[in-house]
Amino acid sequence: SQTVYPFGGNAKSDDPRAKDKTIVGGKGANLAEMAEIGLPVPPGFTITTEECLDYLEHGADPSTELRAGFAEKLRHDVTSALGHIEATVGKRLGDKDDPLLVSVRSGAAISMPGMMDTVLNLGLNDETVEGLAQVSGDERFAWDSYRRFIQMYSDVVLGIDHGLFEEALEIAKEDKDLYADTEMSAEEWKELVAEYKQIAADERGGEPFPQDVTEQLWGAIRAVFDSWDSERAKIYRRLNDIPHDMGTAVNVQAMVFGNMGDTSATGVAFTRDPATGEKSYYGEFLINAQGEDVVAGIRTPQYLTKAAREAAGADKPSMEEAMPEAYAELARVFDLLEQHYRDMQDIEFTVERGHLWMLQTRTGKRTAKAALKLAVDMADEGLIDEKTAILRVDPMALDQLLHPTLDPDAPRDVLTTGLPASPGAAAGKIVLDADTAEQWAGRGESVILVRVETSPEDIHGMHAATGILTARGGMTSHAAVVARGMGRPCVSGASAVVIDRAKRLLKIGSRDLKEGDLITLDGAKGQVMAGEVATIEPELAGDFGTLMEWADKHRRMRVRTNAETPNDCRMARQFGAEGIGLCRTEHMFFDAGRISAVREMILADDENGRRAALDKLLPEQRKDFHEIFEVMKGLSCTIRLLDPPLHEFLPHGDAEFEDLAATTGHSVEHLKRRAGELHEFNPMLGHRGCRLGITYPEIYEMQARAIFEAACDVKAASGEAPLPEVMIPLVVTRRELEILRALVERVAGDVFGEKGTVVDYLVGTMIELPRAALMAGEIAEEARFFSFGTNDLTQTTLGVSRDDASRFLGPYVDRGIFARDPFVSLDIDGVGQLVTMAAERGRATRGDIKLGICGEHGGDPASIRFCEETGLDYVSASPYRVPIARLAAAQASL
Ligand code: PEP
Ligand code: MG
Repeated sequence: SQTVYPFGGNAKSDDPRAKDKTIVGGKGANLAEMAEIGLPVPPGFTITTEECLDYLEHGADPSTELRAGFAEKLRHDVTSALGHIEATVGKRLGDKDDPLLVSVRSGAAISMPGMMDTVLNLGLNDETVEGLAQVSGDERFAWDSYRRFIQMYSDVVLGIDHGLFEEALEIAKEDKDLYADTEMSAEEWKELVAEYKQIAADERGGEPFPQDVTEQLWGAIRAVFDSWDSERAKIYRRLNDIPHDMGTAVNVQAMVFGNMGDTSATGVAFTRDPATGEKSYYGEFLINAQGEDVVAGIRTPQYLTKAAREAAGADKPSMEEAMPEAYAELARVFDLLEQHYRDMQDIEFTVERGHLWMLQTRTGKRTAKAALKLAVDMADEGLIDEKTAILRVDPMALDQLLHPTLDPDAPRDVLTTGLPASPGAAAGKIVLDADTAEQWAGRGESVILVRVETSPEDIHGMHAATGILTARGGMTSHAAVVARGMGRPCVSGASAVVIDRAKRLLKIGSRDLKEGDLITLDGAKGQVMAGEVATIEPELAGDFGTLMEWADKHRRMRVRTNAETPNDCRMARQFGAEGIGLCRTEHMFFDAGRISAVREMILADDENGRRAALDKLLPEQRKDFHEIFEVMKGLSCTIRLLDPPLHEFLPHGDAEFEDLAATTGHSVEHLKRRAGELHEFNPMLGHRGCRLGITYPEIYEMQARAIFEAACDVKAASGEAPLPEVMIPLVVTRRELEILRALVERVAGDVFGEKGTVVDYLVGTMIELPRAALMAGEIAEEARFFSFGTNDLTQTTLGVSRDDASRFLGPYVDRGIFARDPFVSLDIDGVGQLVTMAAERGRATRGDIKLGICGEHGGDPASIRFCEETGLDYVSASPYRVPIARLAAAQASL
């Protein structure tokens, strides 16, 4: 098969691999596609990801001579593909009279913005630079390009610190009293090039900067291949769940020049606003510049549209005003691209002497808010259908929208305003570098990473931070793009921020601050505030409501919530919960007013003592259930009877024992001895769950009574009852359930007799131990429903303690032993088998058995997909995860 695919010019390929992202990468596939639909794309060729993998496996040994690592066939194919570019453009690489220059850029199947390497202006040397000056008639341009090339090539291919070159440029400008790079003359660039070559030679132990253009080309190809395995690329892949074995393609493309004077420019743009989803062109451009100038935030770019410029109150003209013809062409291309790809596109372009060229298009990264708006708008416009709209939004991204935002009425002590680079509110302590961000976040603090500008080396710190603030850089700077992708609020280009990293101090405007001070960011407005600003609950109507409505129409499974307070229940109802999947009643026992009665019950010497304490708890439990059933009238409510080992409720410390002694009349010594008797070596496998109900039936009796009395009362008061589903935890045998079901039914009968009314209810169990899954057929004889408790089922199937696993799970995931944390995303291969088996065996015994999941996995999209495939009736998730589950359930049914 082909190692290289040409595009542009008269290149055409019927080979499906030529547009297969896994083979030619996203950039290569889209360049080929754009060229085919007639867009202006400079000719080039793409080396496949397969060649990258082959090289990394066989040729990456740095001791091998340059080019020794490349296969013979690849060397041959690159040479002939280079011929395609040369023939199309009518220039030759290395021709000293009229040289071809190329860019060499990475492009993996899944885009990893800024993570891998690029070399521009390749093909320049001491001779070709003269030729370029001649044919372009622009000496300044030629030498500007050469200095760019030397710096970039030295950095990317030769591994020389780019700071050395930047420093030399700064000094040169200072000496000449110049402010901007664009003020440098041809002569001044020439002098700088001499200096740059000297730097390169010095850093390479006297070896001169490579003049052989073929050597340059292979050096750049090799560097792009190598960058797949760079540390930052690996971290990015880990953070974004991108496999490590895909490799990157390499795109070699004829250069077009945005730095050929004032009729030339370079820019990046989105076909719609990636922060809000608004239907307006969005982007930035720089006149007389090359691509990396925009992304690196070296000069503050200009707006694309007049409207955007006016809204920002900027005075430098927009592209629409400065280059109306090229702008009109760009607008035409935007519309063609959206029609073709049916999604928002993120574009790089160059204008060379008034002529527009497209260098890249890809599906644009977007905030959660924009993702929603784009999906709903595009469906409304008829660009996509409803199902596609549902599939367009990442359920996990909804999380960003469900959390509180800054209260517009709360007082704000605004320190400064920068660009609104990524929306959302974030408050935290100032940290000045990525490592500190990671350390402080690691000990549980919220931090805001404050940098002059961010670079790919900061990625771990950006991930650890709750928000990002930069002094330099535009809306498409590294910080802005990465922050939006991660869902971190970001304010960029806040030029009033002055950082003194050595002293760990900063000034924002006239105010002095230090690392560790608290600030708040409003990413939607670009504001930076001192201290922490109050927040309000999110808006659930609008686009969110529309997409959720569509999702509800297309999903089969029901979505319930794990909740045990009336407040959580109300919130979950607002988020669309259709009932309770798990009410952990022990959480109601911890309340300050009750804990002493609970302790009295636990430490009682006999049943009578326990009953006396339980009598105090009964009215409290009944009140809890009453309030919850009020909120959940007409809906199924799974109430789980007491689950955890009793010693979890015991007093700690002398003061608590003394308090308890005072209320119970027992001596402290007596209480301590009783507490000692309750000690367990392995409480998770000890006296908990239904084992409590078997040994102390009065506890479950009290709880059952509270449930049924509350249900009857709610029915009497409102005419509508909830449907209680009484759930027995930690069952492993049919007999346990038989005993406890009889207990619950007896209490229900008593209560209905006393109240003179009845409510429908079910008794069922959790399947959360391997034996329960194995014996599900028998257990189903006693159970009207199963709820998979995948937290305990994971813990006991893997033999991994859910409370201690964090110490080694990180390394396990890093080393690929587990693809994901099995307590977050269900181990489908292993634990999943038990779930599937139990579901099948349960159904075989009882055809209408209700099946649900209430472990944490009920809110994880991948696990939800598995639940859909297993045919569960519902998933249950914590309130904030309910919308995520609704969308994920819909996606799983499509
Ligand atoms: C479970 O084990 O999955 C479960 C939902 O119960 P808990 O987390 O309370 O043990
Ligand atoms: Mg459990």
